[in-house]
Amino acid sequence: MGNTITPPAQDTLNKLEELRGALEAESISYGELSELTGLADYIDLDDVQLLEAAGVPEFHFTAEEDGAVCRDNFMCLECRRAAVARG
Ligand SMILES: [Zn+2]
Repeated sequence: MGNTITPPAQDTLNKLEELRGALEAESISYGELSELTGLADYIDLDDVQLLEAAGVPEFHFTAEEDGAVCRDNFMCLECRRAAVARG
């Protein structure tokens, strides 16, 4: 029945904070940005700073735009918030 959002492990949270540090120091590398994108599912929904850096869009992708339908795949904030609201 679709995806669920599970709380991130402490290791993941530590890594996100490490990446935030690099971001704030404006010294984040492409590798780190890629890592951040990979951890997008674990970024707090109110954490606009990391979400933006991870490339999470605020609203739905549509099939017309990029060939992917993001609803229920947590690709945008809209989907993520809806998933959290559903429990
Ligand atoms: Zn969406």
